[in-house]
Amino acid sequence: MDPAIAHSTGKDGNTVALTFDDGPDPRWTPQILSLLAQYHARATFCLIGPLAEAHPDLVHDIVAAGHRLCDHTVHHDEAMHALSPEAQDYEIAGAQGMIDRAAGGHAPLRYFRAPGGDFTPAIRQIAVRHGLRPLGWTVDAEDWKRPGVPAILSNVKSELEPGGIVLMHDAGGDRSQTVQALKELLPWLVASGYEFDFPEL
Ligand SMILES: [Zn+2]
Repeated sequence: MDPAIAHSTGKDGNTVALTFDDGPDPRWTPQILSLLAQYHARATFCLIGPLAEAHPDLVHDIVAAGHRLCDHTVHHDEAMHALSPEAQDYEIAGAQGMIDRAAGGHAPLRYFRAPGGDFTPAIRQIAVRHGLRPLGWTVDAEDWKRPGVPAILSNVKSELEPGGIVLMHDAGGDRSQTVQALKELLPWLVASGYEFDFPEL
């Protein structure tokens, strides 16, 4: 598996990969799943291990809808580079086990995203050793700043190019702006001719 950070979709053409980080969260994940279903959009969910363990029903719902999963560590430490190699391995492999158990085994868990994008060559190698492709993004919706729905929409619309990977959040705080933005973003993507895809493996 390629240890390079994935920065594009798996398919050429007018494709986009939506990614949602820091969940699952019963307040927002179901709303986002329902919107994705409405637009036949597939996405990738970067899950925190203990939250996956706490909400296996949501993990099941994500998988049943045909989306893919991404390992987003146990503790979401944005200074992961400062941890010992053993602790880095636990952040990745520990969350992988939690997510896989929550999914009932055979989870479509293909990616690893370092919290805050704090990737190092060593961290990428650990991910690859566990069968996970390091996952980046090309468009930060900056929804985590809660800048207002118009700002979230303009961030994505101005930065997105075919093959892009969009970073958004379905947890980690009040994500009502993300949900509202998606209600406009999804039909805009469809109208703009975008096909929903997964990040490259
Ligand atoms: Zn995160």
